[in-house]
Parts: sequence; structure tokens; C-alpha cells
Amino acid sequence: MPLETTQDPQDLELSFAATRPFDFHAWLTTWQREFVFFRVDARNRINYMAPSVRDILGYDPETMLGRDYHEYFDVEDPMQAQLHELSERMMGAEPPDVHRCVARRRNGDRAYFLLRAREVRGPFGVVDREMMGQDITVRIEAVLSLRQSERKYRRLVEGLRSEYIIYARDANDFITYASPSIQKVLGYSPDEAVGRHAAGFYGLEQAGQTILDHFRRDSQAGKVVHNYAGEFRHRNGGVRFLEVQERPIFAPDGRYAGMEGIARDVTEAAAAAREIRELKDELERRVAHRTEQLQRMNEELRASETRYRDVVETQTEFIIRWRPDGSRTFVNEAYARYLGRPAHELIGESFFPRVHSEDRARFDDVIASITPAHPSATYEVRGPRPDGVMAWMQWTTRGFFDADGQAVEDQAVGRDVTELREAADLLRQKESHLTHLSRLATAGEMVAGIAHEINQPLHAAKTFAEAARRHLQAGGAERISTAIDCTTEISEAISRTVQIIRRLREFTKAKPVELESLDVNAILREALELAAYEIRRSGVAVRKRLTERLPAVYGDRVQLEQLFVNLLVNACEAMAGAQPAERLLTIRTAAADGLVTAQIQDSGCGLREADAHRLFDAFYTTKKEGMGMGLSLCKSIAEAHGADLRFESNPDGPGLTFILTLPTSGAPFA
Ligand code: ADP
Repeated sequence: MPLETTQDPQDLELSFAATRPFDFHAWLTTWQREFVFFRVDARNRINYMAPSVRDILGYDPETMLGRDYHEYFDVEDPMQAQLHELSERMMGAEPPDVHRCVARRRNGDRAYFLLRAREVRGPFGVVDREMMGQDITVRIEAVLSLRQSERKYRRLVEGLRSEYIIYARDANDFITYASPSIQKVLGYSPDEAVGRHAAGFYGLEQAGQTILDHFRRDSQAGKVVHNYAGEFRHRNGGVRFLEVQERPIFAPDGRYAGMEGIARDVTEAAAAAREIRELKDELERRVAHRTEQLQRMNEELRASETRYRDVVETQTEFIIRWRPDGSRTFVNEAYARYLGRPAHELIGESFFPRVHSEDRARFDDVIASITPAHPSATYEVRGPRPDGVMAWMQWTTRGFFDADGQAVEDQAVGRDVTELREAADLLRQKESHLTHLSRLATAGEMVAGIAHEINQPLHAAKTFAEAARRHLQAGGAERISTAIDCTTEISEAISRTVQIIRRLREFTKAKPVELESLDVNAILREALELAAYEIRRSGVAVRKRLTERLPAVYGDRVQLEQLFVNLLVNACEAMAGAQPAERLLTIRTAAADGLVTAQIQDSGCGLREADAHRLFDAFYTTKKEGMGMGLSLCKSIAEAHGADLRFESNPDGPGLTFILTLPTSGAPFA
């Protein structure tokens, strides 16, 4: 123990004057300072008190006479018990006539005395006792305070966290004390540790000895604190890592007496520190990696941002973003330029008032239709240009929504389509003009046929007229009746001629589209009639597979008629090269699922695969005299009717089949 090693126990041992060889002078000097002599009778009453009591306890000796000495010495006091225990433990058993007691000074302070009593017999056999008291207050108090601090210290040491070992070793490096925590740290009980050589605790005994020698030399040279951190060996052979701090102890004569030390087990802490260091390194590596990644991403982002900005700014398309209240959050250069105002003025301002009042309701409907499920819409609205002229704008708007599906922002890409719309209108006009011209051309092509068609009834009419004349010339009731029959035939032939001419006129007349309920079979029959001459001339056999009572379709009769005429004429032309017996034209109609289908099948030359995708292109032709407008026109007519026109190669034979699928108007054709 540090206390035991720094204090000589002998110093604490008290000795009664009589236990030492008697030295009168010394005795006399100490007498004055610390000894009280008195005498008590059998009933403990003081019958003599030496004057030194005045200096030592402060009482007038006269006043003490006749009083029980217990009023002054060996008084009842809580310290008595401690004092006895202290005597036992620290100073060994007292002789029977000696004991330590508490005395009371006049000022009320406690004093500690060593009392020795001796019986004396008076001349009359009265037994008195002579008492010698030595004031040992200073020493006892020193011991008590020492003990108190020792207790505190021990409590501290023993109660230290278990990774701390307090130890002491002597001048020869043998352990003289080890706190209980050594058991946990190094596996030795304190008893096992005490007496062992300190070098044996080091990881390598040899190294341990070197360190111990080193410390000793340094201590003798005046070094006060020694630090060491290194490996120590656990009793089970394992290695512990300890941090050690030692201070040298010197005997009163200045001799080196050993070391007191404290060792801290930092094995786990060292491992943890190592782990933390590794983790830190790892973290730093990852942070560096991540930073590099982020940097790269930032650069890429910047690059793509520049690209994006370039795209946005060099756009001729307008790009704006706005909040649900219409206030713009972004506009690109093109838009600002278009409106002739700086971008910062446009931001924050609502564009809703720009929307033409007549388009506003439709615009609101479109915007309301933009939902997370259908996030974008394209529409056209009117808005004023800076010069006040109304312009048509086409916008494609995409909505952005929060997690609850609430609209947060919209982004719209748009352009001024006024000219485009005008051009489209013009195109439509031109198209219809072209349709007309094409019909004239078709009619022109058919003039020969038509002439033939007209020729026939006219010829018949002539024949009947001549017959009628002959009958009338012959006279007689019967002949007259026959002549009348002839006039009926003449009238019918003329009617047919008129009908053909009317149809031709209708076909070639430029007139606006007229929508009506139509029977596809009837239109096909009329088309066959219009193309009759071409069919006959081509030597083509016609087979009709028409499904009667088709549902009505809604459309323009003349246009559909023209579509069929074109297909029929093309079919005849395609079969020109085929053997006469194999020139077969099959016309079919059918209805299903709200659709009416008309098929025109030829057994002609068919088509090269490579040309298939060009067939409907305008000006695509393989014919010397061809215009290449026919099928392109048919396609436009079909589209205008919401119909589909396509062709297929016949699966089992030469030729093509053109298929027109028209939506029905819902009601059967009446
Ligand atoms: P044109 O008849 O003036 O050439 P079209 O547009 O009517 O113009 O036809 C374009 C081309 O499509 C024709 O030149 C022809 O090569 C091809 N074609 C049209 N109909 C048929 C068909 N029934 N069989 C094979 N080829 C056809």
C-alpha cells in the first residue's frame, strides 16, 4: 500500500515513557509538554493533580481535587470505540495497565490520552491509584486522518473502473500490492500477484526487465513520472494492451523503495480505436469516392444543363412553366421574344387572360383533363400577338403532381400555328379542287365508255322509233298498239340516257361534301355502272357477292362512288395482261361489329413486295399514262369517312384485294 510504503509504521507506534530507557532530562521536557500525573482514591476521586494539567487540558488543578477523574479522563465519548479499534489494529494490544482514552479539555475540545495506572497502598491500607496520562492527541489525530484518507483512497482504488489496476512494487521489482481489478485484467488474484516479479507480467519478460531497469535508473536520476504503453501477458497466455503510469517511492533516508503505479487496460479501447481508425479510413475513402462521383455528376449535370439550356434557348418553340393559378415560373427566350417582353416580367404573371375568351372554356376543360394518369394534352387556343392580331397557338402541356396527385406545376411547349392552319386550310381547298380535277380526269378517261353507254340506249331508241314508224305506216289497230309499245321502249331508252348523263354530270360537278345515310351495295352498283365500259372493254368477268340489307353508312355518295370507280378501273388495268379466261373481278360486301366491308378482288398482276408501301403515295404509278393520284385520293376519301382502306395479296391466286372498312351510322339502311 502506498501509505504503508511511504510511512514508517514505527513512527505511528506510540511508546509509553517507561518502555524506553529512562532519561531524566527528556522526561522532564516532555513532562511539561504532554504528561499529566495524578492520583485517585478507591472511588476514583482525584486527590492529587500535577500542575502540568493546566498547560495540557487547561484546568486549574485545585478545582479538580475531590472530583471523579472520569469527568476529565476516559470520558464517555463516541470516539472511545474507534480509539480502541485503532489501538488494536494499528498499535497492537496494550498492556493491561495501559489504555487509550478520550479526555476533555477545558475549552470542550477532545483530547486523546494514553493512561497508565498503578496501585499504591497508603499507610492505612487505603488503595489509591497513581495515574500517568500522556497527551497523544496530535498523533492520534494524525493516525485518524491518515486512516480516513487511507479508507478514502482504498475505496477509490478498489472502486476504480475495472480496467484500472493500482499496484506497487518494491525496489527489486517484486509486486507488493495489486488492486482486485488485476484479476479481471490479467487473470491473477491480488494475492497471486503480490510477490511475483513485475517483469513476468510484460508481454516479453526480457523486454519487461529492460523497461523496469530503465524506469529505476530514471527514477534515481530524478524522473518522477514514467509512462509506458505496451503488451502484457494475461495469466491464460492472452495478450492485453496496457497503459502504465508509475511514480517512484523513496524511503525516509532517500533510498529508492520501489514504484507505485496505475495501469489501464486499453485492449478493447485499442481494438476499438483501431477499428474506428479503419472505419474512418474506409469512410474517408468512400467520401472521397463519393465526392469524386458527385463532382463528375455535377460536371455532367452542368454539361447537360448547358446542353438543355442551349436546347431550350435556341428553340423556336415556346417553353413555359406555370403554377395551377396560371402564373408563369419559367419562360424561354423564344417565348419572351415572341411576346416582345423581357423574361423576368413574364415570370410570376398569369397567362390565363391571354387565352381568347371563346377558347377559354375549352382550354379549362383540357387543363382539367390533365391528371397523373393522363399527364399531357395537346390543344390549340387563340391569343393575341404583341401587334394585337389574334394568333392560333398550339400547346402540348404536361402536368407535374405531388404525392397526393395535386397539380404542382405544368410545363408547356408551344408554337404559333396561325400560318400552319392557314396553309392547312389552303391545302384542304387545293385537295378538294384536285379531287374535282381528278374526277374530271376519270370522267375524261371514261368518256369513251360513257359515249358507248349512251350510244346503246340511243341506238335502241332509234330502232324502236323506226319500228314504230313502220307499224304506224302499216296502220291497223294491232299495228298501232305495237307502235305504242315501241314508244314506251323509246321513252325508257331515253330515260336511261338521261340518267347516265345526269350521273356523269353529278360525278364531275364540283360540289361541297354532302353527308347522308348510304347503302354501300347501291354505291357499288352505281360505280360498276360508271365503270361498265372499262370492264367490258377489258374482257373482265364480274362476280358479285353482295350481302343484302347492310347497315347504313354515313358519307358522301359521290366521293365513295369515285373511290370504288378508281378501284374498279385499277383492277381492270391490272388484269390486262392476264389470260382472258382468268380475268375475274369479285365484289363482296359484308357487315360485322358495327362495320361494313367492301372488297374488290382482281386476278391481275399483283404487286412487288418492295412497292407495297408506296401504293397509296401521290404520284406513284407504274403506268405509262398514269397520274399516280387515284389511290392517294381513295385513301383521303376513306380517311375523311373515318374508314380504313388497305389491300392484300390474294392468298390462293394472283392479284390483289382492296378492302374498305366503313363505320356504320348505327341504323340499318332503310
Ligand atoms: P395510276 O392508276 O394513275 O397509276 P393509282 O394511284 O391509281 O395511280 O395507282 C398507283 C399504282 O398502284 C399503279 O400504277 C399500279 O402500279 C398500282 N396498282 C393500283 N391498283 C392495282 C391493282 N389492283 N393491282 C396491281 N397494282 C395496282
